[in-house]
Amino acid sequence: MAQLARPRVAAARLEREILVLVSSGRARSRKEIAESLGIAPSTVSQRVQAMLASGAIEETGEGASSGGRRPRALRVPGSTGHLGVVDIGGTHARLGILRHGGELTTTTEVALAIADGPEPVLTQVTAALRELAGTASDGGRLLGVGISLPGPVDVARRALDSPSRMPGWSGFDVGTWLEDALGIPAVVENDANAMAVGEHFGHARRTRHSVSVKAGSAIGAGILVDDRLHRGTGGAAGDITHTRIPAGGDTPCSCGNRGCLETVASGAALVRLLREQGYDVAATADVLALVRDAEPVATTLTRTAGRHLGEVLCAVVNFFNPGAVYLGGALSTLEPFVSAIRSQIYEGAHPLMTRDLVIAPSALGADANLVGVGRLLEDALVPHALAG
Ligand SMILES: [Zn+2]
Repeated sequence: MAQLARPRVAAARLEREILVLVSSGRARSRKEIAESLGIAPSTVSQRVQAMLASGAIEETGEGASSGGRRPRALRVPGSTGHLGVVDIGGTHARLGILRHGGELTTTTEVALAIADGPEPVLTQVTAALRELAGTASDGGRLLGVGISLPGPVDVARRALDSPSRMPGWSGFDVGTWLEDALGIPAVVENDANAMAVGEHFGHARRTRHSVSVKAGSAIGAGILVDDRLHRGTGGAAGDITHTRIPAGGDTPCSCGNRGCLETVASGAALVRLLREQGYDVAATADVLALVRDAEPVATTLTRTAGRHLGEVLCAVVNFFNPGAVYLGGALSTLEPFVSAIRSQIYEGAHPLMTRDLVIAPSALGADANLVGVGRLLEDALVPHALAG
């Protein structure tokens, strides 16, 4: 029995992989599927033929021509449309519409206050998303919505899990609220994870294992292993910001602990340290302005912050041996910050770990979360495509 069942299991797995590629628009032809999966075109053809026969996919006859006969494009029935993607921050949301295949066609930003609680914020966001979808050039049909939130997300419950400074959000079922409001499937993800997925697939030179760090007023990180997001047991994998380091001393942290990386290496920490020295700064943007003006104290503090983050990343790189560390967030636009991280990793990590390691700035910038959560949404929509 087991031997008879095995080829069927392999075929089912291959069909699902093909369905993900085709429904997401990442592959549109047999040739692209074969290249993407690294398997023989004949194997792909056989599977595609079976899927066409069962109606799981269909042919449109409008593939991209590379000279000669025009190849037939594949698609999943009912999968034509766009994806709505939203990245919520503390004081604003960035929204976008993704075309099939992950291309961001249009974006906008709206001001909001996350502390107002989930319903006022989500009402504002869905209204803005409807308006944005309506302006898309080829109709406004949305197939699904993906949302990135600035706190620990319980992905199964599609809710935030005890976020700090976000009253009313903990345990609120964001996914169901969005589905009821918009009538389309929704996925909910933590912002560091969404960014990590966007960056991982957004760089031209690809690696299968990456760490993406966002250093802004807070610090977050996300991990991809074998091209898949690694969330960890409680969804908190990559949360390096609450690693205690000696330089943190007794400084209280937002998590209730003392001496976390966040208390010495984040934008909020730099604001605090500069204020202690009498500087009139209120937000990370003020720190950025000082460093860009080469103000010596701000520059030194920023370089030291980068060294502390680099010190923690050394342990991450040694443990995980990634192919790339991508640096995003406002602080990563500052040369003294980034060069301190680089030198700390190259000096502190084992040479085997850094030999092929790429340390690169963010490829997508402010759009990384949108592209990342869109990709997660594409994956989540496949079962709907199967059912339909
Ligand atoms: Zn902490």
